[in-house]
Amino acid sequence: TKWVYNFGAGVNDGNATLRNLLGGKGANLAEMASIDLPVPPGFTITTEVCTAYYDNNETYPADLQGQVETALARIEAAVGRKFGDKEKPLLVSVRSGARVSMPGMMDTVLNLGLNDVTVQGLAEGSGDPRFAWDSYRRFIQMYGSVVLNVDHHRFEEIIEQAKLDADVIEDTALTPEHWQQVVEGYKAMVAEEIGRPFPQDPQDQLWGAIGAVFGSWMNPRANVYRRLHDIPASWGTAVNVQAMVFGNMGEDCATGVCFTRDPSTGLNEFYGEYLVNAQGEDVVAGIRTPRPLSQAYAKPGEVSMEVALPEAYAELNKVRDVLEKHYKDMQDIEFTVQQNKLYMLQTRSGKRSAAASLRIAVEMAESGLIDKNTAIMRVNPASLDQLLHPTLDPKATPKLFARGLPASPGAACGAVVFSADEAEMRAQKGESVILVRIETSPEDIHGMHAARGILTTRGGMTSHAAVVARGMGRPCVAGAGSISVDYGAQTLSAAGVVIRAGDILTIDGATGEVFAGTVKMIEPQLSGEFGTLMGWADEVRRLKVRTNAETPLDADTARKFGAEGIGLCRTEHMFFDPARISAVRQMIMAKDEAGRRTALAKLLPFQRNDFVALFKIMEGLPVTIRLLDPPLHEFLPHGEAELAEVAQALGMDAAEIKARAEELSETNPMLGHRGCRLGVSYPEIYEMQARAIFEAAIEVAKTAKAPVPEIMIPLVGVKRELDITRAQIEKVAKEVFAETGKSVEYSIGTMIELPRAALTADAIAEAADFFSFGTNDLTQTVFGLSRDDAGKFLPHYVEQGILPKDPFVSIDVDGVGALVRIAAEKGRKTKPGIKLGICGEHGGDPASIAFCESVGLDYVSCSPYRVPVARLAAAQAAI
Ligand code: ADP
Ligand code: MG
Ligand code: MG
Repeated sequence: TKWVYNFGAGVNDGNATLRNLLGGKGANLAEMASIDLPVPPGFTITTEVCTAYYDNNETYPADLQGQVETALARIEAAVGRKFGDKEKPLLVSVRSGARVSMPGMMDTVLNLGLNDVTVQGLAEGSGDPRFAWDSYRRFIQMYGSVVLNVDHHRFEEIIEQAKLDADVIEDTALTPEHWQQVVEGYKAMVAEEIGRPFPQDPQDQLWGAIGAVFGSWMNPRANVYRRLHDIPASWGTAVNVQAMVFGNMGEDCATGVCFTRDPSTGLNEFYGEYLVNAQGEDVVAGIRTPRPLSQAYAKPGEVSMEVALPEAYAELNKVRDVLEKHYKDMQDIEFTVQQNKLYMLQTRSGKRSAAASLRIAVEMAESGLIDKNTAIMRVNPASLDQLLHPTLDPKATPKLFARGLPASPGAACGAVVFSADEAEMRAQKGESVILVRIETSPEDIHGMHAARGILTTRGGMTSHAAVVARGMGRPCVAGAGSISVDYGAQTLSAAGVVIRAGDILTIDGATGEVFAGTVKMIEPQLSGEFGTLMGWADEVRRLKVRTNAETPLDADTARKFGAEGIGLCRTEHMFFDPARISAVRQMIMAKDEAGRRTALAKLLPFQRNDFVALFKIMEGLPVTIRLLDPPLHEFLPHGEAELAEVAQALGMDAAEIKARAEELSETNPMLGHRGCRLGVSYPEIYEMQARAIFEAAIEVAKTAKAPVPEIMIPLVGVKRELDITRAQIEKVAKEVFAETGKSVEYSIGTMIELPRAALTADAIAEAADFFSFGTNDLTQTVFGLSRDDAGKFLPHYVEQGILPKDPFVSIDVDGVGALVRIAAEKGRKTKPGIKLGICGEHGGDPASIAFCESVGLDYVSCSPYRVPVARLAAAQAAI
């Protein structure tokens, strides 16, 4: 078996496609060398050796040693130096490198091959004893800490002492003699720590380092990282052994890291940092302050590499171009300059911010480097969310007040209010407010909507506040436990600082941070590139994208983001409005149908206006309206004070209301008297809603494009339920059309959110013009778990790998997805053209959207801020 792959100096056994075998670093070193970039020669020991090592009781394959010797001899010949030679010693670096870069793995060891004898050769050969002794002490320090596990503090103590003794502040002020003393100190300390002398034989050093790389693959840190990132242990790591080049040989030497474009803005500028006369990770280690690579980024007084080392910089700039053209992506590069000569030590595709990723993809496609589809695939749809909200100015340095969970992205700033009603009242006056609650409930929705941001002190990432805020696109910090809220005193306080109602507060929903006062913000830039990429995505996607919206504001936002209609308008959200909740309650309290009809008549104009507003905004696009869904109990007052208030408003006895509330209360409301079951029991409710829809549609059609209402019946499990409710709606349609002498097109369909509905979809399709998969409830009913209670155990299920992901976030393809497939097939069998959509939270989740594409649904519907995410994800699914 070939265990060892050469690279550099004209022999390249590997290339970039062999990433799995050679690891990312090794594969790209070979690739760079093969396109004639200056890569110091070396070899890669494959990931298969790592696997074999662990399969065979931590022993190496028998022929490995021979292959390593041959490869090392090749390096020796190429650079004209010999490993362990006392005049011209070869020094190497030993570098780990898995398929994906992985923290927790062994750090790189540089200058391996130095010992008490070769250090003299290096000093004489280079004529620079300071460089030689500095390199030796670096080697002992790195090898000592990463291979021999000596605490790095022990090394630092010795250097500190040497600086004290020499009475200098900077490392660079130490003389060769000082460094020699440091080396003596190091060796003595290491010998004491490990109970034997520091290894002097370069072969021992080499195999010690190789063993440490393979050993680190199974260390606890690496194991944890692998588990968190789904990286199988069987992948193994590779080991790279490479001839050293030196950035620490003087003022014409340097080392640096850079990106071929600016990784935070995406600007096509050469971005990076370098240090003169330095080695390896000095740049990132923070010992000295690195300088900018290009003059474009230099502040006054800073000497860029462009100015300090113009030849090497020009060379590097050429390499930048070659690498981008070759890899067709932005690269993250590590390099070293030895006596004005440039050497490439690493390249990989560079990590970048969401904004940069967008800009780079679009600019590369526009310049012809990549095609549009590649550009579309380059941008992570989920990251778009970050671009649609204001963010805190990175230059601002406010003092932290408290910290909670980053529940919904974006930054917001406003006056503190403690109740939803007040939030709404003040927002209507044009004020920006932050709604601060211990926790939120469905009655707070209007206030959450009115607020710029939401802060809660209790609850997690799936708490009501978090879920609703994400859905609305409101920034939210949830579960900020260090804050205590006193509703009575109208204050919130943390760590001794008290903030009162009306004071200004700033929250950052992307980080979970909370600040007192105003923090400067940057408005989102739905820049040219954003529009361009979205346009390309729209050209290739097949799935339509609609939004879940019931307020004009949301509907408007969604249309700006490109929604092609409303896929779910939840009418009950309209009932919580303070102006009408009283009529809703009166309807619930009514003793008979006549009483209910009286109350419903009060609601009718409100509801009609709601629909008029939505139809106008949607300008002829389809609008799916779900008739009342939740159990009536949800609309009743909670707590004695509210109860008394309601009793007074309705002119009823508090006791009477209490009794009715008890009557309505259910053990399992999720499985209780809700959805079409309400429509069957109280036909007058759905009749009122249907009338409001038709009257609104006719009114809007007079002056604007005729709306296309799609009336949706929730929670159907039996075809007969749909027959009955459908007949009610059709009857109302006839009445309204007769009364007005006008008519509009409409359709009637159902949610598929119960397993029985999915399994009998062929029958249900006889009575339905469309299906909309309500995958939130479908997930609850398929798993037999309630979303509100699942927070207690679902996270553990995911941690233990019982479930791959939270099924409420990403659709469970095997179970819930199977039912969706069955229902789609059966529905189409009965009605070939039946319109199919999805309106659960999953409609905005890229993985779930890919599933919807595979089933061939017609559209997905998601919250407004997810619309761009869905457009891009739908395009990716179609490519
Ligand atoms: P990491 O994966 O942590 O980036 P690397 O193996 O890339 O570790 O090594 C870190 C740094 O060490 C490199 O960026 C480079 O500066 C330096 N280095 C590694 N190998 C060599 C070498 N052969 N010659 C000079 N410097 C090297
Ligand atoms: Mg490192
Ligand atoms: Mg590196």
